[in-house]
Amino acid sequence: MTTIADRLAAAQHRIAQAAQKCARSPEQIRLLAVSKTKPVADIIEAYQAGQRCFGENYVQEGAFKINALKHDYPDIEWHFIGPLQSNKTNLVAQHFDWMHTVARDKIAQRLNEQRPSGMAPLNVCIQINISDEATKSGIPAAQMLPLAQCISSLPHLTLRGLMAIPTATTDCALQLQEFTELQQLFATLKQAYPTVDTLSMGMSNDLDMAITCGSTLVRIGSAIFGERDYSI
Ligand SMILES: *Cc1c(COP(=O)(O)O)cnc(C)c1O
Repeated sequence: MTTIADRLAAAQHRIAQAAQKCARSPEQIRLLAVSKTKPVADIIEAYQAGQRCFGENYVQEGAFKINALKHDYPDIEWHFIGPLQSNKTNLVAQHFDWMHTVARDKIAQRLNEQRPSGMAPLNVCIQINISDEATKSGIPAAQMLPLAQCISSLPHLTLRGLMAIPTATTDCALQLQEFTELQQLFATLKQAYPTVDTLSMGMSNDLDMAITCGSTLVRIGSAIFGERDYSI
């Protein structure tokens, strides 16, 4: 039976191999361990194997885990990667280090107002709906710069980059097209805002292509923690 430590090492190995294939340094790509639905004990196990960044999708569940672990594991970096209703922004502002799914001025403004002054600015990524599917969250590419302008004017937020969940497909050409478009958007954003350094794209099934197209952070859940017991 494999352990969380084994599976983490395997994920790091996949990242290193993908980086090597496109002549990038593996240090440029961070692994975000997505621990949604998984118990605190699993996070501790991953921590003990060296993992420091964890991603959560459900804000109450995430806040609960952060509270449970913050005293003994203060160097964990917590990333919120799920959809967020505007009436729950305070939980993200008060607990998380990163927020990947900002897609509206109003959400950014609320996070800014609710960020406690004793905490470092909240690191923010703009979620792009690259496939322009109506059912998906995120903004169309054309709205990126106006939203970036808003975020960068807010003192308790730091604009760090883009996040996207491309179409789940086995069509490599479509996958490449979407990732390439994201890479170009990222380059545009980076040129306009010096704090931008993060392109959050790539999951278990599209990790290699994401890394080839410049991803700096890949989000992996079940390949590390095993299948989820429930999904929302
Ligand atoms: C759940 C989730 C992941 C990880 O998915 P796995 O299939 O468990 O690897 C990555 N990104 C986001 C936004 C997610 O919600």
